[in-house]
Amino acid sequence: MTHYTPIETNWDYQATLDRRHKYMSPSLGTFTAYQKPIVLKKAGMQYVWDEKGKKYLDCLAQNLCISVGHNHPLVNSEAKKQMDDMVHCTTMYYQAVPAHFAEELTATLPPLPNGDEWVAHFVNSGAEANDLAMIIARLYTGNYDILSLRNSFHGLHFGAMSLTGIETCRHNVPSSPGIIHVHNPDQYRGVYGESKDGTIVEPYINEIDVTIRSSTPGKIAGFIVEPVQGFGGVIPMPDGYMKGAFERVRSAGGVCIVDEVQTGFGRTGTHMWGFEIHDVLPDIVVMAKGIGNGYPMAAVLSRRSVTEPFAEKKFFNTYGSNPLGCAAGRAVLHAIKEDKMMENAKVMGDLLEERMRAIMQKHDIIGNFRGRGLMRGIEFVKDHNTKKPAADEAMRVAEMAKDNGLIMGRGGVHGNILRINPPICPTSEDMEFVAQMIEEGCSKL
Ligand code: PMP
Repeated sequence: MTHYTPIETNWDYQATLDRRHKYMSPSLGTFTAYQKPIVLKKAGMQYVWDEKGKKYLDCLAQNLCISVGHNHPLVNSEAKKQMDDMVHCTTMYYQAVPAHFAEELTATLPPLPNGDEWVAHFVNSGAEANDLAMIIARLYTGNYDILSLRNSFHGLHFGAMSLTGIETCRHNVPSSPGIIHVHNPDQYRGVYGESKDGTIVEPYINEIDVTIRSSTPGKIAGFIVEPVQGFGGVIPMPDGYMKGAFERVRSAGGVCIVDEVQTGFGRTGTHMWGFEIHDVLPDIVVMAKGIGNGYPMAAVLSRRSVTEPFAEKKFFNTYGSNPLGCAAGRAVLHAIKEDKMMENAKVMGDLLEERMRAIMQKHDIIGNFRGRGLMRGIEFVKDHNTKKPAADEAMRVAEMAKDNGLIMGRGGVHGNILRINPPICPTSEDMEFVAQMIEEGCSKL
């Protein structure tokens, strides 16, 4: 290797910002929009360090891609071993690692009735996976229309962007026809009012029926749902909604697609998959982000029966079933199980909830705290009655927290929701630190 000139990296703060602005497209937004952005250099489990060595608790988990912890030792050692053996092998060849991963991943889903079984398609990103799920649904049902929820985020490719129900994510280009958005059952600021105990459900289910009868030929290809809407502002589906919605969708000939890109891999604390909380069995499950703990990977798992028409023509995805990503994915499943991480997500999520309930008593600026396990949202409002979004205040709290060593996500259509989604390995001290930062931030507003 001595004949290669060394590849130099300049870590200077200003040089990094300037280089990015000059050579990377301005469309690649820095979402949280800190006044003074961070340059990240190193990471370990739930923490990241900037270029000067300052430590942060990463409660964004780099957009929930880091499931079991940055540079998790098992994930990295399995990936390194695989890298030394073979970095890439096309899907068209047989390779043991993707085959094992498919077996292990399908085994995490509940068994299917009538001898049916789960099969995996590997792709690279969540958006790609959702595009694929739409194709599978349309081919299987022979129908075209797909219902999606307002406020949903499913990615930014052609099909996925059309599914996404958030204006700021919709570019001014033609989108896929045959996608209809229905109201999301938001129990805090939904169209049918607020319910503190999450019981406004029927009107949202009925709306599915009405939409099928008014906006489709009466038959649909499917319905897609995030068990907890993520980027849209951490909005959990209330009890009974998914069950009722699935019944209506199936009676119109559609299949049910669950987007587990954020809710999967134990994040909600009680179940490996968000849909399991709702006692439903989907036809197609979409996974990405946490699947590879930062290695680019995604998957569409579907019932074999549902996939059959799709198998009549070719499907090829260059990096799908890349053995490096699959080796990382296998290690993620191992780590969740052996480190009891799902259980940790539950305990830590409960701790945070307890602290937040107390903080809310003192600070009216917080209108709502919600979510499950380690997928939590804090909604900032100017007034509890009008619920006028307090986006600037949320941002100021996020900026103060960042200066003190805590990274949070930001979301919701009004940008007034701070998201707490760390890798699922934090400690009780970490949760206490989050609570303190929120409390301090609210006090200083
Ligand atoms: N689905 C959900 C629920 C997501 O949160 C995201 C990404 N934020 C996607 C799909 C798209 O994933 P990707 O960015 O890998 O395309």
